[in-house]
Parts: sequence; C-alpha cells; structure tokens
Amino acid sequence: MSREEFPTDDPAVVTCGLPYANGDLHIGHLRGYIGADAFDRSLETLGQQTAYVCGSDMHGTPVAVNAEQEGVDPEAFALEWHEQYEETFPKFGVDFDNYGHTHDETNTELTREIVRTLDEAGYVYEKEIQVAYDPDADQYLPDRYVVGTCPYCGEKARGDECDEGCQRHLEPGEVEDPSSSITGNPAEYRERSHKFFEVSEFSDYLTEFLDGLEGTSNARNQPRQWIEDGLQDWCITRDMDWGIDYPGDESEEGDDLVLYVWVDAPIEYIASSKQYSERVGADEYDWEEVWKDSGEIVHFIGRDIIQHHTIFWPAMLEGADYNAPRAVAATGFITINGKGLSTSRNRAIWADEYLQEGFHPDLLRYYLTTTGGLQQDVDFSWDAFQEKVNGELVGNVGNFLYRSTLFAYRNYEGTPDADVSEEVHERIQDAVEQFRTGVNDYSLREVAGATTELAKFGNEYIQRNEPWNLVDDDPETAEQVIRDCVQIAKAVAVLLEPIAPEKAQQVWEQLGEDGQVGDALLEHALEAPPAEFDEPAELFEKIEDDRVEELNEKLAERVAAASDDADADADDAEADADEGSSADGDAAEAAADLEAIAEDRIGFEEFQDVDMRVGRIESAEGIEGADDLVRLEVDIGVETRQIVAGLKQLHDVDALPGTSVVVLANLETAELFGVESNGMVLAAGEQADLLTTHEDAEPGTKIR
Ligand SMILES: [Zn+2]
Repeated sequence: MSREEFPTDDPAVVTCGLPYANGDLHIGHLRGYIGADAFDRSLETLGQQTAYVCGSDMHGTPVAVNAEQEGVDPEAFALEWHEQYEETFPKFGVDFDNYGHTHDETNTELTREIVRTLDEAGYVYEKEIQVAYDPDADQYLPDRYVVGTCPYCGEKARGDECDEGCQRHLEPGEVEDPSSSITGNPAEYRERSHKFFEVSEFSDYLTEFLDGLEGTSNARNQPRQWIEDGLQDWCITRDMDWGIDYPGDESEEGDDLVLYVWVDAPIEYIASSKQYSERVGADEYDWEEVWKDSGEIVHFIGRDIIQHHTIFWPAMLEGADYNAPRAVAATGFITINGKGLSTSRNRAIWADEYLQEGFHPDLLRYYLTTTGGLQQDVDFSWDAFQEKVNGELVGNVGNFLYRSTLFAYRNYEGTPDADVSEEVHERIQDAVEQFRTGVNDYSLREVAGATTELAKFGNEYIQRNEPWNLVDDDPETAEQVIRDCVQIAKAVAVLLEPIAPEKAQQVWEQLGEDGQVGDALLEHALEAPPAEFDEPAELFEKIEDDRVEELNEKLAERVAAASDDADADADDAEADADEGSSADGDAAEAAADLEAIAEDRIGFEEFQDVDMRVGRIESAEGIEGADDLVRLEVDIGVETRQIVAGLKQLHDVDALPGTSVVVLANLETAELFGVESNGMVLAAGEQADLLTTHEDAEPGTKIR
C-alpha cells in the first residue's frame, strides 16, 4: 500500500517523543527534536499544511523517583523542568507550534475520554495480578520503583522495561528477583486488581497497519516480530498517586490507582494539537481533521520506544476511533567519541554547554541531521564536528555563497540583469526534486544533500566559467554567469532552511529578500532575487584546531571526574575492576564499551544489497596533510579501485601491498582530503585490524 506523496491536501502533524521532565537536555535528546523540526520545516517548504507539536512528560515513575530523591513534590519538580525545556528548545531553532505538558487540563481530559471510550467499547477488563510491594516503605513498587532480572534476556531490568538488555516493555509482575529501588530490600508480591487493555485483539489490525506504515524500517520490523511472538494485553493502571486518575476513580480516596504513564504520554500529541487549534482557530488548523479524519500523522521517536508507538499507541487510536499514524521514524542513539553517551559518567554534550561554547545552533542541527541515516546511531566527537563544519559548511556552502554574492555585489550591486541559463535552471530543478524525494523517503540527509550538492555545483560552475576574467572582455557572459550564481544562492537559502533556519535567513536577507525564508516554498528557489543587495558577510566561521583540542580536554576531564566519583562508589562493578592493574581496568572499560548487537534484524535480501569483494592491495601511500589516511590502489578483480583508508598510524604503509582485504564495493564514493575514495576496506575496531581471507580467494570473489 503506498500513499499519496507529500505534499497532500490533508493537514499533517509532526510529533517527537515527549521528554521526561526530569533532567538536563543533551545532544542525544536534541537529535530527535531537531530531526522532527527539520522534517516539519521541510513539509512546509513543500507546501504541506502542518503543525509540529510536543510537550513534557510529567508523569510516571521516572519523574516521581527523581522528585522523591530531591525531596520535592513531583508536580513542582516536573514543572520546573518543563519550563526549562520550553526555553531551551527554541535556542536550537526547534520551533514547536505548541508545546504543552501531560499534566495540563487538555491532556487530562482527553486521556480520560479516550480511556472511557476504550472501556465502553469493551477493550478494557479487570484482572488480579501480582504487584511488587516494599513492606518497609509500605508502598507498592510500580515500574522504576522496582529492579530485577528480565525474564526474556536475563539482563538487569527495571519494572517496566528491559533498559539494559532486550529493551522489551515489561508488564507488572514480570521482572524476576524484584527488589525495591527505594530501600534495596527484596520486594514481596501482593495481589492487586488492575485494568488491562486488550492489545491482543488488535493483532490483525496492527499487522495491516505495519504493512502501510512509512518512516524507518526498524519501526516496522521489530513490531512484526512481537506480533508473531503473540501480543500480551497491556496493564494500563498503576498503584501510585502521581498521574492521571483512572476515569470514574477520581473521587475515591486512598485507592491510588492512576493510568500508566504510557497511556497519557502519547495522547499529549493529540492534546497539544488541540491546544494549537484552539489558539489559531480551527479554520487555520483543525486538530479533529488531523486526528479523526484524514490527517497525516508523523511520529519521530527514539528507537527505544518503538513498541509504544507501533503496538500500544495505534491499537489505542484504532480502539477509540482515531486516525492511524502515517509514519514512525525511529532514530538511533548518539555516542560520544565512539562510546555510549552516559549522563551518570558525564560523557555527554549538554545543550546549555554547547551554546555556552559559542557555537551556532545551526552547526549542530547540520551535524545531527547529516551524519548517518535516521535509524543509525550517530557518533559525536568535536573532531568530526570540526571536520564537518570546516569541510561542508565553511569550505563548500559558505564559500560558494560568499564568493558569488560578493562578486555580484562588487560588480553589479546585486543581481545582474540577465536570465538564468538552461543548465543552471535544470540543476536547481534537480536539487528541488532531490529535496522532495528526501522528504518522502524520511531522509534528512537527502534533504540536506540537496543543498550541499547544489552548492558544490555552484563552486564548480563559478570556477569553470571564471567570471573574473570575463568582466572586462565579455561583460555579457560575466553577467550571465553571476546571474546564475545568485539564483543558486537563493535556491540554497530555500533548501537549507529546514536544516539551518537562522543561517538560511541570513542568506535570504543578504539577497535583499523580504520576510522569512521559512515561508518560502520550493518553487521560490527558481524565482528571481531582488535586483539590489548589500555587501555580504561570511556565513560560517572555521573551527580552529586548538579550539577542538581544548574542547576535547574539557570533555576528557569531565568524564574522568565523573568516573572518579564512580570509583568511590563501592557498588560500581566497573570501579571494582579498576582496582586491579590498569590493563585490567582498560579491558573492563573496553568490554563495557562494546556496542550492543543492533536490535533491528535485517533480511537476507538487505544483506545481499551489500556488495563485498575480496581485494588485493596493489599500492599504498600516505596522503599529505592527513594524519592517518592512506591512498590505496586495490585490485577487486573486475577493476582496480582507489580507496582512502585510515591506516597510516596503525600499519606499516610499505608492507600493505600484496595484502588481501575485504572491500565494500558498492559504497557511495566520498572525498577525503581532496582524494576520491571509491569503496571501503573493512577493518575491526579502533586499531583498524584489517579483515583478510583465510585461503587464497581471488580478487573480485564475492563475500556471502
Ligand atoms: Zn530483556
């Protein structure tokens, strides 16, 4: 089943998984909010009517536990974080049309209404279950109040999720060897009556829903497996007093039965849309049309909450007679310098910290949206950040914009009076098409690629035509060339806006355009810019090496300080290992840093898309200016490839020729330090241990 491409005539809503109102934001969070924001802005550029809504998740044990640790009331605690998020998001250009929270009246009422509807439709039943209880604390232990062992994979797990292992949602009573996270005592199980939502009734519906679901493939493949394994009904109440009371139970004192946080959290997507409609009027944006009629619902989420958004949520929507989501885009995690982001170890880049370092938010937006595909994990390092900013933004996009508009300003005080050439018109149209395809493929990298590749063309175009040599001898051609370049600059502004809104606005104003580039549509990329504009300024600033060194040192010191704290903690298993020889400590650290096996399985067909061949290195030489890059000539049977590999510091370059290697042959080409790399030589780990063959397979032999 394929749906009509964006833009459609129906209103859209773009959402991003709600942040728990319980701690500082870091770039792991920002990746999702920026990604969804860029997607929403891209839809607007296509001319799609859309709203980007979100809100803080105020309920649940993640908030209650943290509030309790600080000895404050959960509502006051969560509200404080909520207000901080409201201030922080816009600083990164994350422009919600509405940002509410789950404890407000709109969400509370809507949640009760939806649960009541499910109940009346016969999808909710009551059942006696065993619930963990802490006799010393004299309270029940829902979700994060209890820790134990995952019954599926044996890893340490929280009461409601196997967060360190298989990432399954766990039902109350499922976690084995439960102990209280309040007192540390073993928990008892006590019988309690709870409400269950009949998710199992929706297996067939969900199977069909997943077949039509757009977004990332992991959001379809994982839930298919869960459905195949058999869906369990879902316990939707908890023994707590912080949360939304079960409808009908509002007045009962002492019962303390509230809805599970994962019931009211996604409903905030609807509540927040409703608040937006109420503010701007239903004529401008009708939340009921979106959610109950024919809207395009697009969810951006982290890949740890796929089950909630592709099983529980669509079943609830269907059961309560709401519209089904069109897409779920589940993004990967962020690692820092190749290691897992860890807030407790302070191995993170905090939102505030990034801004305090004085970097423009659009640089981070660009980095996070163009490094890796949506569902891949993305590594952040200050070195990679510098390379991306200096190479792609300063060296390519900024360079083209500055040189072409400065030339136009100096010679014509603006846009020369000429028509855009056929060649450039077509090239801009290609970029527009690439942008449109990127949006419809949920590929922000492709959306950004439309701009960067167009700017690259612009640089080549101006270089090839050398207008500086034409101004005197052939003024007409010079005007023509610069007219083309100014049009490319305008197209770059329009196409760059979703990814880097403030920078795009600067270009827009530079070109003498009025209003907001965010209001521009794709077709404006080909409309003539104003005849006059002022002297341009450079758009991006190069990040110097010493700056990166300083940032790396700061990060390393912070992580070391946090792990000193951890070492002092006798409960910390890794700290214990560190007391041995330093080598043991390193081994423990290295083992702890091994990446978990990707949760998303790929089919054999997808594997077959990867063309790996045996290759033989014919020659190898270092690349000037690059510390560890080597230019290789590799015989892969059908041809000899030039491949750039990061091997210089780890291998004796002269000894490389003759070595059999494994080459990823159908990787897109890349340019590294001005040298084209056509393929990738596979190697293991940071030591770049080269993969080779056991026997004498000939170059060109396929790996399968
Ligand atoms: Zn597990």
